[in-house]
Amino acid sequence: MPNGSSETGTIATDKPESKAYIGRFAPSPTGPLHFGSLLAAVASYLEARRRHGQWLVRIEDIDPPREEPGAIAAIVKALEIYGFEWDGPYQLQSKSNAEHKLALQTLRERGFVYRCGCSRRDLASVAIGPGGPIYPGYCREGTSAEETALRVRTTNEPIEFTDRLQGKQAQQIESECGDFIVRRRDRLIAYHLAVVVDDHLSGINEIVRGVDLMDSTPRQIWLQRLLGYDQPEYAHIPIAVDGQGQKLSKSQAAFAIPMAKPERTLVAALERLGQRPPEALAKAGIREIWAWALEHWYIDRLAGQRVIAAGRPPSGHEPRRQKRQ
Ligand SMILES: [Zn+2]
Repeated sequence: MPNGSSETGTIATDKPESKAYIGRFAPSPTGPLHFGSLLAAVASYLEARRRHGQWLVRIEDIDPPREEPGAIAAIVKALEIYGFEWDGPYQLQSKSNAEHKLALQTLRERGFVYRCGCSRRDLASVAIGPGGPIYPGYCREGTSAEETALRVRTTNEPIEFTDRLQGKQAQQIESECGDFIVRRRDRLIAYHLAVVVDDHLSGINEIVRGVDLMDSTPRQIWLQRLLGYDQPEYAHIPIAVDGQGQKLSKSQAAFAIPMAKPERTLVAALERLGQRPPEALAKAGIREIWAWALEHWYIDRLAGQRVIAAGRPPSGHEPRRQKRQ
């Protein structure tokens, strides 16, 4: 088994108990920060600070076709205005492209990767799983196509992990997702590989993020095992949905969080995260709100929850449509 190859012979109890906590917030620059991302930022930040750890910000800018010009600056500015303090300079995922390629090379050398020439049309009739079409392994034995993506081989050995908030999870990747892409046909490194490499490089040992990413966690754990990386802990927080039950960021009304009066929106975020802030807190300054939040932060209030009804955002939110004048 791949994870067997990384065993060093040290027994587990020899591991130091108090490894410093390193968490992160990793938005994609596909638009300004919306309320859903703010929830993930707040939760990951408070959990890291509560545990006297570091909190890193990493902008996942490895998919230029999907990026919105100016989004990186807008996200960083929003985080500043909302009073987040991250450790070190914020990171750009594109800067670690050389390491992504090295990891890909390692996977290739170990024989876990193969070329896939299937087009979208070739896969049009296959079953759909949590990560999109379930790849049926058409190119496992080779392809004559010239333009190819690279896929990583998977098995049906269940990938199990215990999420701190959502409990025991298991997935059989081969039948539920299929062999998945690690380098796209346009030669860009695929999301899962980049995330796994960057988390490893930064020493991230707990990932707090939205539950919409929980289905992709087994694929990321699979890559960690193939590459011999340590597996971080996971805490998947509920995602914000609108009145129609649509994920906030994907719905028509994906609101950019307002830059004016951030106090009100921050308090609303704490409330949606189950933290019961007193009413008067909305009139306090940003620093005071963070001090209260840190003192009262209790992530377990979110245990077992998959969605947070965000309802109507506090007034002052502007629909993105209007922001793009
Ligand atoms: Zn194929």
